[in-house]
Amino acid sequence: MFYNEEFETLPREALQAMQIKRLQQVLQRVYHTVGHYKKSLDAAGVKPDDIKSLTDLRKLPFMTRSDLQNNYPFGLFAVPMSSVVRLHASAGTSGRSTVFGYTKRDVDTWSELMARSLVAAGLTKNDIVHNAFGYGLFTTGLGMHFGAEKIGASVIPMSGGNSKRQIMILQDFGPTAICCTPSYALHLAEQGGVLGVDMKALKLRVGIFGAEPCSQQVCDEIEKIYGITALNFYGLSEVMGPGIGMECLEGRNGMHIFEDHFLVETIDPQTGEVLPEGAEGELVFTTLTKEAFPLVRYRSGDISRLITDPCRCGRSHIKIERIVKRSDDMLIIRGVNVFPAQVEAVLTDIEGLEPHYQIIVDKSGALDSLELQVEVSEKTFSESGSVKELQNIERRIIKDMKDYLGVSARVKLVEPNTLQHTPGQAAKVIDKRRI
Ligand SMILES: [Zn+2]
Repeated sequence: MFYNEEFETLPREALQAMQIKRLQQVLQRVYHTVGHYKKSLDAAGVKPDDIKSLTDLRKLPFMTRSDLQNNYPFGLFAVPMSSVVRLHASAGTSGRSTVFGYTKRDVDTWSELMARSLVAAGLTKNDIVHNAFGYGLFTTGLGMHFGAEKIGASVIPMSGGNSKRQIMILQDFGPTAICCTPSYALHLAEQGGVLGVDMKALKLRVGIFGAEPCSQQVCDEIEKIYGITALNFYGLSEVMGPGIGMECLEGRNGMHIFEDHFLVETIDPQTGEVLPEGAEGELVFTTLTKEAFPLVRYRSGDISRLITDPCRCGRSHIKIERIVKRSDDMLIIRGVNVFPAQVEAVLTDIEGLEPHYQIIVDKSGALDSLELQVEVSEKTFSESGSVKELQNIERRIIKDMKDYLGVSARVKLVEPNTLQHTPGQAAKVIDKRRI
């Protein structure tokens, strides 16, 4: 099933002709409207007119997360704010977060790509969609919502948390599809077990999972517990949100990238060299139609490979393998992207702490848990005298982690010089989870 059969099955040659035309338009636009691109293209000695084929793409400089942060909040917008109808943002303190803008047309495109994704999962207007992705500044909740409405499905804007109520609604409203992180699906099943609910007896038929890695093993487990088909989507807020790629019901092997809207390359994360199709590398994206926040050669940090074999669903767009690795130190905690540097920024704003800390990530039941061990400074330790003061620091860390990064953390303050220090490295991350 297709939402937009013409574009989703476009022969490769026509698709590539469309891509190069759109790429040239994007380059002209960003070069003349966004200071960052003019500067970076000039520095690389490339002009938009030099890009005549898709292979010329590799002449263009990469964009990285720090380019995005350095232009916080609106420095990379290619349209005036009067044309922006929506703002989303990643987690992070001021200057370490990234803000994404959308024009009316961007929201329409995004909704269509989400509609394509949901139809690829076999959904129609007759489905009821239980959307347990968080609504708000993060892109996944609203992205799913608009796509579900676009295909005419009945969407339940459940958002995250409040598991008992989620289970009540799953029983009473009878949704046929659920969208959430894979670990939240497992958590709901655990809670259902406690309440004596048979998850297989629910009307759910399909689950659409993403925002964190979902291994084959986890997908299999969810399918078994719920008696549903579990499909993966690919999203990246910087590039658009969810709706960049989707696993199709017929193929069940990798996620199709909607190539009429995004160019995808794989590169060697060390050298930046473009890799041949099929080789494992870091995914790099270029947006072809975005108006407010276009991106050229953005390094995603996600490691995957391109699958170019024709898919039995009939879509002509290439696929990427599910993501289970990153090229950087980003952690995904309950679907929220967190960098150790962001944690450090939160901690350095709090007086009385040393910049030495340890991040311990584990599972508490099905869900991720985050523990922070932080050294207090010698001064605080010797002068504080009262346990109360230390408790205040602890509470402040918990609150700031939640407020700025959107994650709940357990905090353990420790005496100075008790954590192992690696020279030149403030943080040590211990990830005990198995993906
Ligand atoms: Zn397919």
